Amino acid sequence: MRSRSPTLSRKKALGKILRAAKAVGVEEIPLSRAGGRVLRKALKTDRPLPPFHRSVMDGYAVRAADLASGPRELSVVAEIPAGTVWDGTVRPGCCVAIMTGAPVPRGADAVVPVEDATGLGSGRVRLHPENIRKGAFVHPRGSDGRTGKTACAPGFVLGPEETAAAASIGATRLKVTRRVRAAILTTGREIVPPGRSPEPWEIRDANGPALRTFLNSLPWVKGRFLGIAPDRPEALRRRIRRGLAETDLLVVTGGVSVGRYDFVPAVLTSLGVRRIFHRIRMRPGKPLWFGRRPRGPLVFGVPGNPVSAFVAAQEFLLPALGRLAGLADPGPRALFLPLAADWEKSHPFEEARITRLASLSGRTVLRPVPYRGSGDFLAAVGSDGLALFPADRKHFGAGEIVEFHPWPAV
Ligand code: AMP
Ligand code: MG
Repeated sequence: MRSRSPTLSRKKALGKILRAAKAVGVEEIPLSRAGGRVLRKALKTDRPLPPFHRSVMDGYAVRAADLASGPRELSVVAEIPAGTVWDGTVRPGCCVAIMTGAPVPRGADAVVPVEDATGLGSGRVRLHPENIRKGAFVHPRGSDGRTGKTACAPGFVLGPEETAAAASIGATRLKVTRRVRAAILTTGREIVPPGRSPEPWEIRDANGPALRTFLNSLPWVKGRFLGIAPDRPEALRRRIRRGLAETDLLVVTGGVSVGRYDFVPAVLTSLGVRRIFHRIRMRPGKPLWFGRRPRGPLVFGVPGNPVSAFVAAQEFLLPALGRLAGLADPGPRALFLPLAADWEKSHPFEEARITRLASLSGRTVLRPVPYRGSGDFLAAVGSDGLALFPADRKHFGAGEIVEFHPWPAV
Protein backbone atom coordinates (compact mmCIF):
# COMPACT_ATOMS: atom_id res chain seq x y z
CA MET A 1 0.00 0.00 0.00
CA ARG A 2 2.88 2.32 0.85
CA SER A 3 4.44 1.90 -2.57
CA ARG A 4 1.36 3.28 -4.34
CA SER A 5 1.57 6.86 -5.47
CA PRO A 6 0.15 9.22 -2.83
CA THR A 7 -3.09 10.96 -3.81
CA LEU A 8 -3.40 13.65 -1.13
CA SER A 9 -2.92 17.07 -2.73
CA ARG A 10 -1.08 19.96 -1.07
CA LYS A 11 -4.35 21.87 -0.72
CA LYS A 12 -6.19 18.98 0.91
CA ALA A 13 -3.21 18.33 3.19
CA LEU A 14 -3.19 21.99 4.17
CA GLY A 15 -6.92 21.79 4.91
CA LYS A 16 -6.33 18.87 7.29
CA ILE A 17 -3.53 20.77 9.02
CA LEU A 18 -5.59 23.93 9.46
CA ARG A 19 -8.51 21.92 10.84
CA ALA A 20 -6.23 20.23 13.40
CA ALA A 21 -4.70 23.54 14.57
CA LYS A 22 -6.54 25.72 17.12
CA ALA A 23 -5.36 29.12 18.31
CA VAL A 24 -3.38 28.93 21.56
CA GLY A 25 -3.95 31.16 24.61
CA VAL A 26 -3.89 34.91 25.00
CA GLU A 27 -1.78 37.19 27.21
CA GLU A 28 -1.93 40.90 27.91
CA ILE A 29 1.28 42.83 27.30
CA PRO A 30 2.34 46.48 27.13
CA LEU A 31 2.27 48.25 23.78
CA SER A 32 6.03 48.77 23.99
CA ARG A 33 6.59 45.01 23.73
CA ALA A 34 3.71 44.12 21.40
CA GLY A 35 5.49 44.65 18.06
CA GLY A 36 5.49 41.45 16.01
CA ARG A 37 2.81 39.73 18.10
CA VAL A 38 -0.67 38.70 16.92
CA LEU A 39 -3.56 40.87 18.12
CA ARG A 40 -6.46 38.88 19.60
CA LYS A 41 -8.90 41.60 20.68
CA ALA A 42 -10.14 44.33 18.32
CA LEU A 43 -8.82 47.83 18.86
CA LYS A 44 -11.61 50.47 18.78
CA THR A 45 -11.15 54.21 18.46
CA ASP A 46 -11.92 56.11 21.68
CA ARG A 47 -12.56 59.44 19.92
CA PRO A 48 -13.08 60.66 16.35
CA LEU A 49 -10.03 60.60 14.09
CA PRO A 50 -8.85 63.19 13.49
CA PRO A 51 -10.23 64.59 16.76
CA PHE A 52 -10.61 68.15 15.34
CA HIS A 53 -10.68 69.84 11.92
CA ARG A 54 -6.96 69.58 11.28
CA SER A 55 -4.92 71.84 9.01
CA VAL A 56 -2.95 69.75 6.53
CA MET A 57 -0.59 72.59 5.54
CA ASP A 58 1.37 75.48 6.99
CA GLY A 59 -0.52 78.53 5.70
CA TYR A 60 -3.56 80.67 6.38
CA ALA A 61 -7.01 79.57 7.57
CA VAL A 62 -9.54 81.54 5.52
CA ARG A 63 -13.18 81.81 4.54
CA ALA A 64 -13.16 80.31 1.03
CA ALA A 65 -15.84 82.80 -0.03
CA ASP A 66 -13.38 85.67 0.59
CA LEU A 67 -11.20 84.36 -2.24
CA ALA A 68 -13.99 83.32 -4.60
CA SER A 69 -13.25 86.13 -7.05
CA GLY A 70 -9.47 85.71 -7.12
CA PRO A 71 -6.35 86.77 -5.19
CA ARG A 72 -6.91 89.16 -2.30
CA GLU A 73 -5.29 90.90 0.66
CA LEU A 74 -6.48 89.84 4.13
CA SER A 75 -5.67 90.85 7.73
CA VAL A 76 -3.85 88.24 9.78
CA VAL A 77 -5.54 88.33 13.19
CA ALA A 78 -3.84 85.44 15.04
CA GLU A 79 -1.37 82.57 14.77
CA ILE A 80 -2.13 78.94 15.68
CA PRO A 81 0.86 76.62 16.10
CA ALA A 82 0.12 72.85 16.40
CA GLY A 83 -0.67 71.95 19.99
CA THR A 84 -2.59 75.18 20.64
CA VAL A 85 -6.11 76.30 20.02
CA TRP A 86 -7.43 79.76 19.10
CA ASP A 87 -10.81 80.50 20.52
CA GLY A 88 -11.77 83.30 18.15
CA THR A 89 -13.78 83.30 14.94
CA VAL A 90 -12.40 84.19 11.50
CA ARG A 91 -14.48 87.12 10.19
CA PRO A 92 -14.84 88.18 6.53
CA GLY A 93 -11.70 89.93 5.29
CA CYS A 94 -9.58 88.23 7.96
CA CYS A 95 -7.46 85.12 8.19
CA VAL A 96 -5.29 83.31 10.72
CA ALA A 97 -1.76 81.98 10.27
CA ILE A 98 -1.96 78.24 10.94
CA MET A 99 0.52 75.39 11.12
CA THR A 100 0.18 71.75 9.99
CA GLY A 101 -1.61 69.78 12.69
CA ALA A 102 -3.32 72.78 14.31
CA PRO A 103 -7.13 73.03 14.67
CA VAL A 104 -8.83 75.14 12.01
CA PRO A 105 -10.72 77.87 13.90
CA ARG A 106 -14.43 78.73 13.74
CA GLY A 107 -15.41 80.77 10.71
CA ALA A 108 -12.60 79.38 8.53
CA ASP A 109 -13.44 76.61 6.06
CA ALA A 110 -10.21 76.26 4.03
CA VAL A 111 -6.44 76.65 4.32
CA VAL A 112 -4.27 78.46 1.77
CA PRO A 113 -0.73 77.01 1.78
CA VAL A 114 2.08 79.38 2.67
CA GLU A 115 3.47 78.83 -0.87
CA ASP A 116 0.43 80.74 -2.21
CA ALA A 117 0.87 83.69 0.14
CA THR A 118 2.97 86.86 0.09
CA GLY A 119 3.51 88.60 3.41
CA LEU A 120 2.97 92.38 3.19
CA GLY A 121 4.05 93.30 6.76
CA SER A 122 1.98 94.96 9.51
CA GLY A 123 -0.47 92.11 9.77
CA ARG A 124 -1.41 91.94 6.10
CA VAL A 125 -1.01 89.07 3.61
CA ARG A 126 -1.81 88.66 -0.06
CA LEU A 127 -3.29 85.23 -0.85
CA HIS A 128 -3.17 83.98 -4.43
CA PRO A 129 -4.12 80.28 -4.61
CA GLU A 130 -4.77 78.84 -8.12
CA ASN A 131 -8.31 78.16 -7.05
CA ILE A 132 -9.92 77.63 -3.71
CA ARG A 133 -12.80 75.49 -2.58
CA LYS A 134 -14.43 74.92 0.77
CA GLY A 135 -12.54 72.30 2.74
CA ALA A 136 -9.23 72.73 0.87
CA PHE A 137 -6.34 71.45 3.01
CA VAL A 138 -8.65 70.74 5.96
CA HIS A 139 -8.78 67.17 7.29
CA PRO A 140 -12.30 67.10 8.81
CA ARG A 141 -12.96 65.84 12.32
CA GLY A 142 -13.99 62.17 12.34
CA SER A 143 -13.43 61.71 8.59
CA ASP A 144 -11.02 58.77 9.16
CA GLY A 145 -13.27 57.17 11.74
CA ARG A 146 -15.94 57.90 14.30
CA THR A 147 -15.63 56.86 17.93
CA GLY A 148 -15.92 53.08 18.22
CA LYS A 149 -14.61 52.26 14.75
CA THR A 150 -12.44 49.12 14.56
CA ALA A 151 -8.93 50.47 14.15
CA CYS A 152 -7.41 46.98 13.96
CA ALA A 153 -9.24 43.65 13.88
CA PRO A 154 -8.02 40.52 15.71
CA GLY A 155 -5.69 38.25 13.77
CA PHE A 156 -3.27 40.91 12.52
CA VAL A 157 0.44 40.93 13.31
CA LEU A 158 1.32 44.18 15.09
CA GLY A 159 3.69 45.70 12.55
CA PRO A 160 4.48 49.42 12.46
CA GLU A 161 1.08 50.34 10.94
CA GLU A 162 -0.97 48.37 13.47
CA THR A 163 1.20 49.72 16.31
CA ALA A 164 0.47 53.27 15.11
CA ALA A 165 -3.25 52.46 15.21
CA ALA A 166 -2.95 51.02 18.74
CA ALA A 167 -0.92 53.95 20.03
CA SER A 168 -3.22 56.56 18.52
CA ILE A 169 -6.25 55.16 20.34
CA GLY A 170 -4.38 54.96 23.64
CA ALA A 171 -4.26 51.14 23.80
CA THR A 172 -1.27 50.77 26.12
CA ARG A 173 -2.00 47.15 27.01
CA LEU A 174 -2.89 44.67 24.28
CA LYS A 175 -4.38 41.20 24.21
CA VAL A 176 -2.10 39.11 22.00
CA THR A 177 -1.46 35.42 21.43
CA ARG A 178 1.17 34.07 23.79
CA ARG A 179 4.24 33.02 21.81
CA VAL A 180 3.61 29.79 19.91
CA ARG A 181 6.14 27.20 21.11
CA ALA A 182 7.82 25.24 18.35
CA ALA A 183 10.51 22.57 18.73
CA ILE A 184 12.84 21.17 16.07
CA LEU A 185 14.53 17.78 16.16
CA THR A 186 16.95 16.76 13.42
CA THR A 187 17.54 13.06 12.85
CA GLY A 188 20.03 10.96 10.91
CA ARG A 189 23.03 8.89 11.91
CA GLU A 190 25.05 10.68 9.23
CA ILE A 191 24.16 14.18 10.49
CA VAL A 192 26.71 16.11 12.58
CA PRO A 193 26.60 19.62 14.06
CA PRO A 194 28.02 22.23 11.66
CA GLY A 195 30.86 23.01 14.07
CA ARG A 196 32.23 19.46 14.05
CA SER A 197 34.58 18.27 11.38
CA PRO A 198 32.70 15.53 9.48
CA GLU A 199 33.97 12.13 8.36
CA PRO A 200 33.79 11.78 4.55
CA TRP A 201 30.44 9.89 4.88
CA GLU A 202 28.93 12.35 7.28
CA ILE A 203 26.80 15.43 6.49
CA ARG A 204 26.65 18.70 8.38
CA ASP A 205 23.21 19.54 9.76
CA ALA A 206 21.58 22.07 7.44
CA ASN A 207 17.97 21.60 8.52
CA GLY A 208 18.31 22.43 12.21
CA PRO A 209 19.90 25.84 11.52
CA ALA A 210 17.60 26.47 8.52
CA LEU A 211 14.46 25.81 10.54
CA ARG A 212 15.74 27.87 13.44
CA THR A 213 16.23 30.82 11.10
CA PHE A 214 12.76 30.24 9.71
CA LEU A 215 11.23 30.21 13.22
CA ASN A 216 13.26 33.24 14.28
CA SER A 217 11.81 35.16 11.35
CA LEU A 218 8.37 34.79 12.97
CA PRO A 219 8.43 37.08 16.01
CA TRP A 220 5.25 35.48 17.39
CA VAL A 221 6.98 32.08 17.66
CA LYS A 222 9.41 30.87 20.30
CA GLY A 223 11.65 28.18 18.79
CA ARG A 224 13.61 25.50 20.60
CA PHE A 225 16.25 23.23 19.04
CA LEU A 226 16.42 19.72 20.45
CA GLY A 227 19.61 18.67 18.69
CA ILE A 228 20.41 15.76 16.41
CA ALA A 229 19.15 12.24 17.11
CA PRO A 230 20.54 9.05 15.55
CA ASP A 231 18.35 6.60 13.59
CA ARG A 232 17.74 4.31 16.59
CA PRO A 233 14.20 3.79 17.90
CA GLU A 234 15.06 4.12 21.62
CA ALA A 235 17.14 7.25 21.13
CA LEU A 236 14.48 8.78 18.89
CA ARG A 237 11.81 7.89 21.42
CA ARG A 238 13.63 9.68 24.22
CA ARG A 239 14.24 12.84 22.21
CA ILE A 240 10.77 12.94 20.68
CA ARG A 241 9.12 12.44 24.07
CA ARG A 242 11.04 15.46 25.33
CA GLY A 243 10.03 17.38 22.21
CA LEU A 244 6.34 16.64 22.79
CA ALA A 245 6.40 18.26 26.24
CA GLU A 246 5.60 21.98 26.55
CA THR A 247 5.37 22.43 22.80
CA ASP A 248 2.58 23.50 20.47
CA LEU A 249 4.27 22.16 17.36
CA LEU A 250 7.10 19.66 16.93
CA VAL A 251 9.05 19.25 13.70
CA VAL A 252 11.19 16.18 13.19
CA THR A 253 13.38 16.23 10.09
CA GLY A 254 14.63 13.07 8.37
CA GLY A 255 13.64 9.43 8.75
CA VAL A 256 10.01 9.71 7.57
CA SER A 257 10.34 7.88 4.28
CA VAL A 258 10.14 4.13 3.67
CA GLY A 259 13.82 3.27 4.18
CA ARG A 260 14.86 0.60 6.63
CA TYR A 261 16.09 3.21 9.10
CA ASP A 262 13.11 5.53 8.82
CA PHE A 263 11.75 4.97 12.31
CA VAL A 264 10.16 8.37 12.94
CA PRO A 265 6.52 7.52 12.01
CA ALA A 266 6.50 4.35 14.13
CA VAL A 267 8.08 6.12 17.09
CA LEU A 268 5.59 8.99 16.86
CA THR A 269 2.56 6.69 16.86
CA SER A 270 4.06 4.64 19.71
CA LEU A 271 4.13 7.88 21.74
CA GLY A 272 0.42 8.48 21.17
CA VAL A 273 0.67 10.88 18.25
CA ARG A 274 -2.22 10.09 15.88
CA ARG A 275 -1.34 10.10 12.24
CA ILE A 276 -3.53 12.41 10.16
CA PHE A 277 -1.70 11.82 6.90
CA HIS A 278 1.53 10.40 5.54
CA ARG A 279 2.77 11.29 2.04
CA ILE A 280 1.39 13.89 -0.29
CA ARG A 281 1.14 14.30 -4.03
CA MET A 282 3.82 16.98 -4.20
CA ARG A 283 7.53 17.20 -4.88
CA PRO A 284 9.75 17.87 -3.12
CA GLY A 285 8.25 16.84 0.20
CA LYS A 286 6.36 13.70 -0.82
CA PRO A 287 7.06 11.69 2.41
CA LEU A 288 5.62 14.42 4.69
CA TRP A 289 4.04 13.02 7.87
CA PHE A 290 1.50 14.94 9.93
CA GLY A 291 -0.29 14.07 13.13
CA ARG A 292 -1.44 15.35 16.45
CA ARG A 293 -1.32 14.11 19.97
CA PRO A 294 -4.80 14.38 21.53
CA ARG A 295 -4.78 17.60 23.61
CA GLY A 296 -1.13 17.89 22.66
CA PRO A 297 1.07 19.39 19.97
CA LEU A 298 0.84 19.16 16.21
CA VAL A 299 3.68 17.02 14.88
CA PHE A 300 5.35 17.16 11.48
CA GLY A 301 7.77 14.61 10.12
CA VAL A 302 9.61 16.38 7.33
CA PRO A 303 11.86 14.64 4.77
CA GLY A 304 15.55 15.28 5.41
CA ASN A 305 16.54 16.84 2.11
CA PRO A 306 17.05 20.51 2.90
CA VAL A 307 14.95 21.62 -0.09
CA SER A 308 12.11 19.40 1.17
CA ALA A 309 12.52 21.06 4.56
CA PHE A 310 12.26 24.56 3.02
CA VAL A 311 9.14 23.52 1.10
CA ALA A 312 7.53 21.96 4.17
CA ALA A 313 8.35 25.05 6.25
CA GLN A 314 6.78 27.41 3.74
CA GLU A 315 3.76 25.38 2.67
CA PHE A 316 2.79 23.61 5.90
CA LEU A 317 4.68 24.73 9.02
CA LEU A 318 4.07 28.42 8.36
CA PRO A 319 0.26 28.11 8.02
CA ALA A 320 0.10 25.66 10.95
CA LEU A 321 2.01 28.09 13.16
CA GLY A 322 -0.12 30.97 11.86
CA ARG A 323 -3.31 29.16 12.79
CA LEU A 324 -1.93 28.32 16.25
CA ALA A 325 -1.11 32.02 16.64
CA GLY A 326 -4.63 33.09 15.66
CA LEU A 327 -3.60 34.82 12.43
CA ALA A 328 -6.65 35.76 10.36
CA ASP A 329 -4.75 34.76 7.23
CA PRO A 330 -2.23 32.04 8.08
CA GLY A 331 -0.67 32.06 4.61
CA PRO A 332 1.46 31.32 2.73
CA ARG A 333 0.84 34.48 0.75
CA ALA A 334 0.02 33.73 -2.91
CA LEU A 335 0.97 35.94 -5.84
CA PHE A 336 0.14 35.15 -9.45
CA LEU A 337 2.95 36.00 -11.85
CA PRO A 338 4.04 35.13 -15.40
CA LEU A 339 6.80 32.63 -16.19
CA ALA A 340 9.93 34.11 -17.77
CA ALA A 341 10.37 31.10 -20.07
CA ASP A 342 8.86 27.71 -20.96
CA TRP A 343 9.06 25.15 -18.20
CA GLU A 344 8.74 21.36 -18.27
CA LYS A 345 7.87 19.05 -15.41
CA SER A 346 8.63 15.34 -15.63
CA HIS A 347 6.26 13.82 -13.05
CA PRO A 348 2.52 13.70 -12.28
CA PHE A 349 2.92 15.42 -8.89
CA GLU A 350 2.46 19.04 -7.99
CA GLU A 351 5.88 20.68 -7.98
CA ALA A 352 6.93 23.34 -5.47
CA ARG A 353 9.86 24.85 -7.27
CA ILE A 354 12.51 27.13 -5.78
CA THR A 355 12.17 30.32 -7.82
CA ARG A 356 13.68 33.74 -8.28
CA LEU A 357 11.87 36.90 -9.23
CA ALA A 358 13.28 38.79 -12.19
CA SER A 359 12.37 41.87 -14.16
CA LEU A 360 11.55 41.50 -17.84
CA SER A 361 10.42 44.53 -19.91
CA GLY A 362 9.16 46.24 -16.77
CA ARG A 363 7.24 43.21 -15.52
CA THR A 364 8.02 40.95 -12.57
CA VAL A 365 8.45 37.38 -13.81
CA LEU A 366 9.21 33.97 -12.30
CA ARG A 367 12.47 32.20 -13.02
CA PRO A 368 12.37 28.67 -11.58
CA VAL A 369 15.87 27.78 -10.38
CA PRO A 370 17.52 24.91 -12.25
CA TYR A 371 18.73 22.16 -9.95
CA ARG A 372 19.42 18.49 -10.24
CA GLY A 373 17.22 17.27 -7.40
CA SER A 374 15.94 18.16 -3.99
CA GLY A 375 19.42 17.38 -2.61
CA ASP A 376 20.89 20.35 -4.49
CA PHE A 377 20.08 22.92 -1.86
CA LEU A 378 22.89 25.35 -2.75
CA ALA A 379 20.75 26.20 -5.80
CA ALA A 380 18.22 27.73 -3.39
CA VAL A 381 20.64 30.41 -2.16
CA GLY A 382 19.29 33.86 -3.05
CA SER A 383 15.89 32.54 -4.12
CA ASP A 384 12.65 34.44 -3.51
CA GLY A 385 10.09 31.70 -2.92
CA LEU A 386 8.27 28.75 -4.44
CA ALA A 387 6.40 28.51 -7.74
CA LEU A 388 3.64 25.90 -7.70
CA PHE A 389 3.12 23.81 -10.82
CA PRO A 390 -0.11 21.76 -10.76
CA ALA A 391 0.01 17.95 -10.76
CA ASP A 392 -2.07 17.38 -13.86
CA ARG A 393 0.11 19.20 -16.42
CA LYS A 394 3.68 18.92 -17.63
CA HIS A 395 4.27 21.81 -20.02
CA PHE A 396 4.04 25.45 -18.97
CA GLY A 397 4.60 28.22 -21.52
CA ALA A 398 6.52 31.49 -21.23
CA GLY A 399 4.17 34.20 -19.97
CA GLU A 400 1.77 31.74 -18.37
CA ILE A 401 0.53 32.89 -14.96
CA VAL A 402 1.71 30.63 -12.14
CA GLU A 403 1.04 30.70 -8.40
CA PHE A 404 4.03 31.92 -6.40
CA HIS A 405 4.55 31.91 -2.63
CA PRO A 406 7.26 34.39 -1.54
CA TRP A 407 9.44 33.41 1.42
CA PRO A 408 8.44 35.31 4.54
CA ALA A 409 10.72 38.33 5.10
CA VAL A 410 13.58 37.43 7.46
P1 AMP B 1 16.02 11.19 5.02
O1 AMP B 1 14.76 11.99 4.88
O2 AMP B 1 16.41 10.95 6.43
O3 AMP B 1 15.91 9.93 4.23
O4 AMP B 1 17.16 12.06 4.37
C1 AMP B 1 17.18 12.35 2.99
C2 AMP B 1 18.50 12.97 2.59
O5 AMP B 1 18.64 14.24 3.23
C3 AMP B 1 19.71 12.16 2.98
O6 AMP B 1 20.65 12.26 1.93
C4 AMP B 1 20.22 12.86 4.21
O7 AMP B 1 21.60 12.68 4.41
C5 AMP B 1 19.86 14.30 3.95
N1 AMP B 1 19.62 14.97 5.22
C6 AMP B 1 18.82 14.53 6.20
N2 AMP B 1 18.79 15.36 7.23
C7 AMP B 1 19.63 16.38 6.90
C8 AMP B 1 20.05 17.56 7.57
N3 AMP B 1 19.60 17.85 8.79
N4 AMP B 1 20.91 18.38 6.95
C9 AMP B 1 21.35 18.09 5.71
N5 AMP B 1 20.99 17.00 5.02
C10 AMP B 1 20.14 16.14 5.61
MG1 MG C 1 17.75 9.69 7.31
